[in-house]
Amino acid sequence: MNTTPENQQKLVSDFLSQSPLKAFIGGEWVSAADGTTFTTRDPGTGKPLAEVAAMGAKDVDRAVQAATKAFRTSGWAEMTPNERGVLLHRLADEVERHKPVLARIEASDAGKIPAQAEGDVQNFVDTMRYFIDISLHVQRRTPLAVKGHEATTVRLPWGPCGFIVPWNFPFLLIGWNISPALAAGNTVVIKPAEDTPLSALYLGQLAQKVGLPDGVINVVTGFGETAGAALASHPGLKRMSFTGSPEVGRLVAEACARNLTPVKLELGGKGAAVIFDDVDIDATSARLVNAITFHTGQVCCDATRWIVHRSIYDRFVSHCVDRMKAVAVGYQFDTGTQMGPVVSAKQRDRVLRYLDRGRSEGAKCILAGGAAAVPGREGFYVKPALLAGELNNVAAREEIFGPVAYLTPFDNEAQAVAMANDTDYGLANSVWSADLDRARRVAERMVAGNSWINAHNVFPHGVPYAGINKSGMGGGVLSYETFLDYTRGLSVVRPL
Ligand code: NAD
Repeated sequence: MNTTPENQQKLVSDFLSQSPLKAFIGGEWVSAADGTTFTTRDPGTGKPLAEVAAMGAKDVDRAVQAATKAFRTSGWAEMTPNERGVLLHRLADEVERHKPVLARIEASDAGKIPAQAEGDVQNFVDTMRYFIDISLHVQRRTPLAVKGHEATTVRLPWGPCGFIVPWNFPFLLIGWNISPALAAGNTVVIKPAEDTPLSALYLGQLAQKVGLPDGVINVVTGFGETAGAALASHPGLKRMSFTGSPEVGRLVAEACARNLTPVKLELGGKGAAVIFDDVDIDATSARLVNAITFHTGQVCCDATRWIVHRSIYDRFVSHCVDRMKAVAVGYQFDTGTQMGPVVSAKQRDRVLRYLDRGRSEGAKCILAGGAAAVPGREGFYVKPALLAGELNNVAAREEIFGPVAYLTPFDNEAQAVAMANDTDYGLANSVWSADLDRARRVAERMVAGNSWINAHNVFPHGVPYAGINKSGMGGGVLSYETFLDYTRGLSVVRPL
């Protein structure tokens, strides 16, 4: 592919010029049955990028039927793992070849800095290759040593699976979700977030191009209350996976329960970083400020509560303030921008509201944050903020999903652990200390799915990533076990 910036921009413009963009069902590009569309915007300018089909319940039903038909008749489910792997490798290769274009689409739609969007696309590719590798090596037929019987368990794909994803890492999360399902031989229906539908549609085009059988990948664009709710409650799905807020996760789980559809939920978080007094203050503050400002704090597993040993608290805070003040807020495509916009006016208002509520409940405002103006851009910008005080404050208890950290001091290890675990969430925390025995001890006492040591936001392929309590249920993503989740067990027994 010719990857000059002009050519990339032309490919993006060609894609957007197909507006109104249609959904991808059974290998065809289709409008909503009632013809409605919605507008997707560049969060950095507030300007429309394209009109997109707003699919309703009838359209979603058509997509599930297409996925069912592909599962039953296209040969996808019966292919050997290496036959399927060849097709999926072609898709991963094609995504990689189109990385600059896809990254530009994602950066425009989600307000991401282009280099970060490229990282997301590469992560999709790596995830797909990781699960293809697993699919080639996993044992699907296991003989069981049982007295008086010849017994085997066989692992088979479930059928059509539904995926509802959020707007913060649209393409990366599609990769995390559909790769194990496809590699195991299932077919998929993806419902991207209404704020960021574009990269999922581009994926549909690439799937068609590499010759995936029609109906193996389907993309239904639209609103959560209509397209999302219709998918979650569809009785034809054999598995469901939802990534998003705990509030909507509960609705999706309820809908799945009515059909007894197994569901995996990856939800929000309110992670802590516990910082002991033996850290390199400069380096640790740099890492945590980078983490909370990366993608403007719209990261589910971010460290949002910084629990700092009292003896270094003041020095640590002063390093953080200096670094946060220096973060360059700007349009995601402008050179030098370190922190782009949040995804929408709604998200900006949510961040501002939490700052107000936190202050009114008594949080000390170390760095005020608030709305940011970027000259010449009408987008949705906020500044980084630092609050401090007791942890029973709304800004320390609820997920803000913006560049806001909440600081509090601790005096001893037991107190730090209790503070970190004093939350309804349970996604990810980190421990920072030069004493690795202590760090491991504290990491293992965290009530969460993930504990990181001297780092935050670490997702190597092969390590399960999951939330517990209000942060999720159903097994998580990114590991060998995730692949097994997308196979059903069948026991075959013959009395001897
Ligand atoms: P959201 O819950 O509002 O929306 C997520 C998806 O659900 C969107 O596609 C939306 O259209 C759809 N949806 C909305 N209402 C629905 C309904 N009634 N029925 C079915 N689907 C519906 O979340 P969001 O604001 O898009 O994303 C932010 C949230 O996602 C945060 O809480 C964040 O922590 C979480 N998140 C979690 C992970 C993880 O891996 N644990 C990863 C990324 C984001």
